[in-house]
Amino acid sequence: MEILDGTKRKDPLQKHDPIFHRDFSKKYPVIDYGKGVYLFDTDSKKYLDASSGAVAANLGHGIEAIADAMAEQAKKAAFVHTLRFETQVQYELAREISDMAPDPLRYVYFTSGGSEANESALKLARQYHRDRGNKEKYLNIGRWQSYHGNTMGSLSVGGDVKRRQPYTPSLIKTDHVYSPYCHRCPYHQNEEHCGRSEQLHCVGELERLIIETGPEFISSFICEPIVGSQQGAVVPPEDYLKQVRALCDRYDILMIVDEVMTGFGRTGTHFAIEQFGAIPDILTFGKGVSGGYAPLAGMIVSEHVVESLKRNGQGKFIHGFTFSGHPVSVAAGLAAVRYYKDQRVLDNCRKQGEYLVQALQVLQARHRSIGQIRGRGLLVGFELMKDRDQDVFYPPEYGASELLNQQAMKLGAIFYPGAGTIDGKQGDHLLIGPPLTITSDEMNEVIHILDLALTEFE
Ligand code: PLP
Repeated sequence: MEILDGTKRKDPLQKHDPIFHRDFSKKYPVIDYGKGVYLFDTDSKKYLDASSGAVAANLGHGIEAIADAMAEQAKKAAFVHTLRFETQVQYELAREISDMAPDPLRYVYFTSGGSEANESALKLARQYHRDRGNKEKYLNIGRWQSYHGNTMGSLSVGGDVKRRQPYTPSLIKTDHVYSPYCHRCPYHQNEEHCGRSEQLHCVGELERLIIETGPEFISSFICEPIVGSQQGAVVPPEDYLKQVRALCDRYDILMIVDEVMTGFGRTGTHFAIEQFGAIPDILTFGKGVSGGYAPLAGMIVSEHVVESLKRNGQGKFIHGFTFSGHPVSVAAGLAAVRYYKDQRVLDNCRKQGEYLVQALQVLQARHRSIGQIRGRGLLVGFELMKDRDQDVFYPPEYGASELLNQQAMKLGAIFYPGAGTIDGKQGDHLLIGPPLTITSDEMNEVIHILDLALTEFE
């Protein structure tokens, strides 16, 4: 059948697959519904989601209060353009988040996803310097073994080598230093010795890069407080973020902390930075803010940055997305944030996190493939090794972490596989990040399935 000028309409009798799949070589189970920490596919197979999807479904599935809040808001006003209007729910959620964040992080800007949040932060940093007459300050510094998103700006500051590689010529110019990984220091330092010196070696490397590049050209430094997908929950040395904060102050560089994965209780506190005593100029969030019930993310901006915008930038951030502050997403966020509070979800996260680490230590005695165990709260990871005692990883092309996860999925649990490059050596890891509402019985099931999967895998 023709529409115009020979353009063909599809034949409705010829059913084609209309989905642009993440990977066309794979067959994906179709999810029918979710309940608590479980997902059920259309073949009635049950999965315990020990990765909360992409560490986003932090409250599990089927919470009626959140679904109802979204439906109510959709009936009231489904879309409002933030160029012209604001909404009551937007105000209320911004107030909740602002109160949750340490001072002087105060102003909340909403986006739909974490990549957009980081793009916004990088652009705001750039505008901050430009408004203050520092037009040359345009470069950003990011870190290897980190992830900030898939849009060109966020990909540029991130350190995922595989994802960056195909776009390298067109990425935004960014310099990188290594993320701390004291257990296998990429700078080959002795952990104890380094920890005793006045400045951590990796912070010294950052300072060296700043001086070499010229601080007058550097706009921002961006990092995850605890690295999620790229390292598998590696916690930095206690003083790292404080020392980075001091460098940023010294060289007039804005410090952006990406809490897209770690925020909203994932590591046992509202924000992971609370555990490290350093407050960034901009904190980005996403995922857990709505418990995954709606696309929602954003940034919390320090008072001095907004004051500068008001004073030097005519009060206007030259930016914005159609779906910024979408009322239905924001209503989901507001209901989720209230749920975290009312159900004392953070207490459960801390309790279950400690239990998980202890259980992994018990498993470690039985499985030589479990290397270093690390993390905070319910963001826990371990090095997946061929032989821990010989300190040997699986070869990178083997895809060990992905294979282990496939094994676990057959047995009914989902984990978050990953592999990062450590000084040219591939290091697989497995990240475990179940919903923060998980019960002890459900956690025992996670551990039992992991035990079986490791036994079959090794
Ligand atoms: N930042 C971190 C730390 C993340 O883990 C992610 C996603 O995994 C992002 C940013 C990107 O968020 P989104 O996928 O919502 O764009």
